[in-house]
Parts: sequence; C-alpha cells; structure tokens
Amino acid sequence: MFDKAQVPVLGMIQNMALWECPDCGRIDHIFGEGGVKKEAEKRAIELLGEIPLSLSIRTGADAGVPVVIAEPDSHHAKTYREIARQVLAKIKIDDVQDA
Ligand SMILES: [Zn+2]
Repeated sequence: MFDKAQVPVLGMIQNMALWECPDCGRIDHIFGEGGVKKEAEKRAIELLGEIPLSLSIRTGADAGVPVVIAEPDSHHAKTYREIARQVLAKIKIDDVQDA
C-alpha cells in the first residue's frame, strides 16, 4: 500500500510488543514474539523499536500526558525517545518544514 501511494516508510514499530508485570518484573509476549521483526526483515525495513503494553502508557495517553512527560526517566519513556531519535535521524529538517 505504501509503495503504491509512494509513501516513504522510515521503519516499523511493534506496538504492545510485551508486557512487564509491575509486581515481579516478569515479561510476557502476550501477542507473540518476533513477528514484526521477521516482517521487517522480509521487507528490508528497519525495526525502530518495540512499545510495551503498559497501563501507564495507556492511561497517560488517554489523559493527554505522554509517558515521556509523565515519567521521563522510565524505561518506557526511553523507548519512545530512542524511536524518535531514529526517526529524526532518517528525515531531513527541510522535509519537516515543508510538510
Ligand atoms: Zn508478576
């Protein structure tokens, strides 16, 4: 679809990639593991990151306060910033200003 519409794809992000138990820290891959990574490799597209399934991400988003603001030092916020850093590295500032 993106090829047909000539939309450049900067990368893929797996949403709800894993769930970390807030009590014991155990990590579960509720929706399976590695599917997006395999698809990205098949399409020769970079996997930019994996966003966890998280109550704090969901409640913050619903309240209009992203986790990078509400919990800037959290692992979740670092994950988002790393994805944003990679996207920024892939685009030119002129592209953003022209949009
Ligand atoms: Zn647990």
